[in-house]
Amino acid sequence: MSLMRRVILAGSTNVWLREHATRTTFVRKAVRRFMPGEQVEDALGAAGEMKPDGITAILTKLGENLTKREEFEQVTLHYLDVLDKIAAAGLDAHISVKPTQLGLDLDRGLCERNLDRLVERAEQRNNFVWIDMEGSPYVDPTIALFTRSRAKSTRIGIALQAYLYRTVKDVEDLIPFGSAIRIVKGAYLESPDVAYPKKSDVDENFFKLCTRLLADDARSTGCRLHIATHDIPLAERLGAYIAQHKIPAAAYEFAMLYGIQRGQQLRLAKEGRRLRVLISYGEYWFPWYMRRLAERPANVWFVVRTMFG
Ligand SMILES: Cc1cc2nc3c(=O)[nH]c(=O)nc-3n(C[C@H](O)[C@H](O)[C@H](O)COP(=O)(O)OP(=O)(O)OC[C@H]3O[C@@H](n4cnc5c(N)ncnc54)[C@H](O)[C@@H]3O)c2cc1C
Repeated sequence: MSLMRRVILAGSTNVWLREHATRTTFVRKAVRRFMPGEQVEDALGAAGEMKPDGITAILTKLGENLTKREEFEQVTLHYLDVLDKIAAAGLDAHISVKPTQLGLDLDRGLCERNLDRLVERAEQRNNFVWIDMEGSPYVDPTIALFTRSRAKSTRIGIALQAYLYRTVKDVEDLIPFGSAIRIVKGAYLESPDVAYPKKSDVDENFFKLCTRLLADDARSTGCRLHIATHDIPLAERLGAYIAQHKIPAAAYEFAMLYGIQRGQQLRLAKEGRRLRVLISYGEYWFPWYMRRLAERPANVWFVVRTMFG
C-alpha cells in the first residue's frame, strides 16, 4: 500500500480533520463528484436518471460507528421508509447498510432486530438488503449477522473483501447457505497480518473468489455474485471467464460506485451486462469520502483543482 494511501486512510478516522474539512466549501464541492446530494431524494433522483440506460441501483446512507440507541432507531426507520419510497418510485434499487449503523458496537441483539425489520420490509416490498463489510474486527460479527438472517430470508447479501487472507475460507463457509456475496477489494487501513499488502495479490484473490462463487456447486446452492470493482482489466478477465464457462446471467451482476468510471458503466450496460451502481447520500460523508480519495491519488489533485478553480 502506498504511503499516500496510508496517510489518507489514517486521516479518514481523524476527528479534528473531519470537523474542519466538512465545513470547507471546496471539499463539499469536490464530494459532489461521488454523491448526488445529501438527501435520499437526491439518490432516488440519480437512480431514476440511470434507469433509461438499463442500470439499476443500491442506495446507502452514509454513517458508521454510531453510538446512541436513538441513532440506530433513526437509521432503521430511515431505511424502512427508503424501501417504501423505492417501491413507490417503481425503481429497481436495493439498500446497503453498515452493521455499526444499526447498533453492532453497542448491542448485538438490537442490531439483529433492526436488521430483521429491514429484511422483513424488503420481503414485503420485493426488495433486497446488502450488508456492507467494515474494518477487519467486524468480519466475524458481520458474518454471524448475515448467516442468522440468511437462515430466515433469501433477501439478504453480504460484502466480503478480497484483501483479507481469511476471505477464501469465509466464501467456502458461506457457499452452503446459497449466499448472495458482493466481492470487493476492501477499503480500510489493514495490517499485513490480516490483509495482502500488494495490489497484484488482492487482484488475483478477487478473481479467484469470484470464479469460486461462479462454480457449478456454488450456483446450485443458490449463490449469487456481485463483482464490485472499477478495475476494468479485472472485470474483463472475469467477463471472459463467464463467457468461456457459459455462466448464466442470473448468477452475477457487476457493481460500481456512483461517479466512478461512468463511461465504463454505460459501456457495460450497452453490452447487456447487468450493472448496479451504489449511490451514497447523507451528511456523514467524511470517512467514506477519504476512502474514495485513497483509492486513487489523482482524486487528491481533483480536490486541489476544485480548491483553486
Ligand atoms: C458496489 C461497491 C460496494 C462496495 N462495498 C464495500 C464494502 O462493503 N466494504 C469495503 O471495504 N469496500 C467496499 N467497496 C470499495 C472497494 O473495497 C474498493 O475500495 C473500491 O471499489 C476501489 O477498488 P476497485 O475494485 O475499484 O479497484 P482499484 O484497483 O482500486 O481501482 C481500479 C481503477 O478504478 C478507478 N477507481 C477506483 N476507485 C476510484 C475512485 N475512488 N475514484 C476514481 N477512480 C477510481 C481507477 O481508474 C483505478 O485505477 C465497494 C465498492 C463497490 C464498487
